[in-house]
Amino acid sequence: MTANILFSARPALWPVYRPLLSRGLEEAGVAAALDTDLPPDEVDYVVYAPNGGLWDFTPFTRLKAVLSLWAGVETIVPNPTLTVPLARMVDTGLTEGMTEWVTGHVLRYHLGMDAHIRGLDGQWRQDVPPLARGRRVTVLGLGALGAAAASTLARLNFDVSGWSRSPREIDGVTCLHGPQGLERALSTAEILVLLLPDTPATENTLDAHSLALLPRGARILNPGRGALIDDAALLAALNSGQVAHATLDVFRTEPLPPEHPYWAHPQVTVTPHIASETRPETAAQVIVENIRRGETGDGFVHLVDRDLGY
Ligand code: NDP
Repeated sequence: MTANILFSARPALWPVYRPLLSRGLEEAGVAAALDTDLPPDEVDYVVYAPNGGLWDFTPFTRLKAVLSLWAGVETIVPNPTLTVPLARMVDTGLTEGMTEWVTGHVLRYHLGMDAHIRGLDGQWRQDVPPLARGRRVTVLGLGALGAAAASTLARLNFDVSGWSRSPREIDGVTCLHGPQGLERALSTAEILVLLLPDTPATENTLDAHSLALLPRGARILNPGRGALIDDAALLAALNSGQVAHATLDVFRTEPLPPEHPYWAHPQVTVTPHIASETRPETAAQVIVENIRRGETGDGFVHLVDRDLGY
């Protein structure tokens, strides 16, 4: 039997993924037909990176799985017509990229780099930062991306705590979980990293109440999702000095509108959703593996729990 695979993503990605998927499927011994346009009732798998509204999956009568190219699936999960397994992207390239972005921005804050980049005013400032072992960093979300970032920071000797929904164990990281763990995780966060998914339970994780739990002058990195932060509460915390600086990669509306106060705020750095990206060479292997599993009856990996939303 041939597996029919519909590739639905930005057109520019098709020439990149097509050879990678074809070769990978051939090496995996999966007979497959790949296209960007197939009759819905002949499609077995959709490789999916939605850019618009909700698809109607009802006509996809023999669909076995939807395989997301993105790690964040908040725009796919609410689709009531999607009833087959949904797998999200867990890609070593994506993870490496996120670890680099997080580590770079944590080091920027830790070493006080801005004072020297911006402070070229003839003043000889000899403020020596503490060693990393004296800097407390908290990572909210200890999944594929958060765990890798926390682990790397711990290997650099940062004093790292992390928080997740269920208990986790990561070498060198103080792992907390559940609603009661959040307060402790926030209370030590000189630098706070948000790597939670966007779900109903995580929306506004950082609101006025939780921002007030941070040590005064905390720094925040958000490469997770815009909805994790109550923007008005963060702006108030920045203006009051409760939060010294925020580096934000993701926003409730993207692109971030030019008139949004974050752009002009002196204590905010905006990066345009580039913290990390799915890397085709490694991501194609993940897609191929899931199709192979689908065809051989092995269970899919990286499945999304539709009730939890991630
Ligand atoms: P995972 O699903 O692997 O990890 C999610 C983590 O969040 C898990 O540790 C999970 O807990 C925790 N979590 C979820 N809900 C709650 C909750 N209610 N309370 C406490 N903890 C919770 O996701 P990834 O690490 O792969 O990705 C995280 C997010 O990063 C993505 O959803 C996406 O939004 C964002 N992202 C951003 C990119 C960018 O370029 N800016 C690129 C790629 C992803 P548990 O361990 O118990 O399940």
